[in-house]
Amino acid sequence: MFLMSTSHDDTVLIHAGRAPAGFGGLVNTPACRASTLLVNSYDDWRRSREGGNPYGHYARFGTPTTRAFADMLAELENAHGAIVFPSGLAACTHALLAFLSPGDHVLITDNVYGPTRAFACGTLARLGVEVSFFPPLEGVAIASYLRPNTRVVYVESPGSQTFEVGDIPAIAAAARRQGAIVMMDNTWATPLYFKPFEHGVDVSIHAATKYLAGHSDAILGAATANARAWPTLQAGAHDFGQTAGPDDLYLALRGLRTLSVRLQRHQETASLLARRLQEHPAVSHVLHPGLPGAAGHACWKRDFKGSSGLFGVVLQPMAAQERALAQAFDSLRLFGIGLSWGGYESLALPVDPPLRTSAPWREQGPLLRLHAGLEDAEALWRDLSLALDAYVHAAEPAFS
Ligand SMILES: *Cc1c(COP(=O)(O)O)cnc(C)c1O
Repeated sequence: MFLMSTSHDDTVLIHAGRAPAGFGGLVNTPACRASTLLVNSYDDWRRSREGGNPYGHYARFGTPTTRAFADMLAELENAHGAIVFPSGLAACTHALLAFLSPGDHVLITDNVYGPTRAFACGTLARLGVEVSFFPPLEGVAIASYLRPNTRVVYVESPGSQTFEVGDIPAIAAAARRQGAIVMMDNTWATPLYFKPFEHGVDVSIHAATKYLAGHSDAILGAATANARAWPTLQAGAHDFGQTAGPDDLYLALRGLRTLSVRLQRHQETASLLARRLQEHPAVSHVLHPGLPGAAGHACWKRDFKGSSGLFGVVLQPMAAQERALAQAFDSLRLFGIGLSWGGYESLALPVDPPLRTSAPWREQGPLLRLHAGLEDAEALWRDLSLALDAYVHAAEPAFS
């Protein structure tokens, strides 16, 4: 079930974004606190305005810390450029805003991250953008969902909460034939396990909050683009004054150094838990792209270089489901209950039935989202299986 990441990425993670000679020998590029960046002379100032690039001399457009992080990301994804945002959601929304105008249509995968969906249906619709959704497992057939005014096709793979993997190359080819831009939220796979620009994507979006920072101590977003999408993405972000703070950038840069070894472990543990969960009597379905039979497994196997630590579980429906869930969650000792994911720690979360408008969600049992952290895998399995035992027992009549 696991595949190896490339060794070239491992070297980029260690050597990109560092310039010891420029910082007194420091191994790490420091967290640069800055607004004004001084020039040396009147002539320097005049020169800094030449070439139509006013972006070099103000910290809103980047400091050495910003550039270290952005350059690393661009190199890992083989992108033309990368830009930072104060959160992952800001990266999603500002990438969309950069490309869409009133009268345009945006076509979005139905399993998109909930807040991105809410932004599209709320703000984008209010601004006069047509918004519609397509079933996540649609490939070439996506052509029938495109309209003459489709400007952006927005994908996320695997999708949030339900983890279907889409046929990105087929979707991208159909979108391009029509001149639409393809955006992808690549947070789950990270730049190591999915290479968006090799599969026809134009803009790749990351919640760096998750695996890139990797320690549950920062909120940060980023987007990268190929040469054709870069000028529009960059101008859009700059129009809105988007940037990120030095400490979050520094933490994400530090997190990136160990991304490959962390992901490998997240992957191994999640795969082990996923396979064992399939055998547990409390479980109805395990939603993990690496499992044979999972929705979009063949696309995952063809296009991805690995699977990360986040996946879903549908439990068997029970009569006293709420009480049984409470007992299961309250018995967890190693899994924390909380939002977000991608840190070193394991998380479990009860998820509301996902909102799907083009492909209705038909599962009856409760949906859980699990993040496999870096703890001992056997200890995690014990914690989880005891909780699921509690779920089964709590649902039994008290007098039995
Ligand atoms: C968490 C998440 C985001 C948003 O990131 P924040 O940094 O929390 O704003 C966007 N997309 C996906 C897929 C996510 O999981």
